[in-house]
Amino acid sequence: RLTSQANSMRGQTAKRARVAKNLDVRAERIAAQRVEAPKVKRRLDVRLPDPPPAGRTVLEATGLWKSYGALDVFEDVTFDVGRGERLLIIGRNGAGKTTLLKIIADRLDADLGEVRLDDRTRPGYFAQEHEGITAGRNLLDHMRENGGIGDEQGRAVLGMFGLSGGKAFQDAASLSGGEKTKLALAQLVAGGHNLLLLDEPTNNLDPSSRAAIGSALAGWGGTMILVSHDPDFVRALQPDRVLTMPDGTLDYFSEEMLDLVELA
Ligand code: ADP
Repeated sequence: RLTSQANSMRGQTAKRARVAKNLDVRAERIAAQRVEAPKVKRRLDVRLPDPPPAGRTVLEATGLWKSYGALDVFEDVTFDVGRGERLLIIGRNGAGKTTLLKIIADRLDADLGEVRLDDRTRPGYFAQEHEGITAGRNLLDHMRENGGIGDEQGRAVLGMFGLSGGKAFQDAASLSGGEKTKLALAQLVAGGHNLLLLDEPTNNLDPSSRAAIGSALAGWGGTMILVSHDPDFVRALQPDRVLTMPDGTLDYFSEEMLDLVELA
């Protein structure tokens, strides 16, 4: 009796083991067939603020001439820029690109010629100096200063330039050089400007910062005049036309010019 009981128990055990094994196999099969649930992407529905309305022709430059002492930097530069246009300024070192941008930004006077802005043109100028950054004020304070955007939108715009999360509450003076650049550009696009004058905004930045700035600015609807030696950045912005200094020759932009951008 004992023996038969023992046999029967062994049978049960063996049976349980088989069932367990089958279950394992099934579980494995199910696991293998399981379709990964799609990761829910958090799509932040934010866009850069629209620039204020602009006239059809944002800017007209006529007969600009600039010299420093005996050095004639350029002699007769004439061009105009239409609403929404992106104009890239290229030329070798010393060709007068920065000088021209400063004249347009009204930081410097031309010796001859004039720059006429449409009544509705609101220019914003970016150079490497980070002149707009105040110690003791955080990033959101800086975003608030520049016009009517709320804190939520301010944080969203900062995030688009790669300054996310707690960075918004950091003292702006403690930012790295690259972060100061991002803050300055975030302020410009959210600051009620419709014409941005950008002098090498990606200079001295690491590749991921350059890409962040490129894609953020590419989504902005205003007019831009820019100087850049960074072909990836220029490609991201897709300029419409190119002004070659010091001659002031205008051309439509094409991808072949990206080689010149790097060399210039
Ligand atoms: P780019 O931006 O194309 O490199 P710049 O506009 O900076 O050229 O400079 C054009 C020329 O004017 C250069 O030869 C430069 O040395 C000269 N230059 C620029 N600023 C001054 C200045 N304040 N005084 C004298 N020469 C200057």
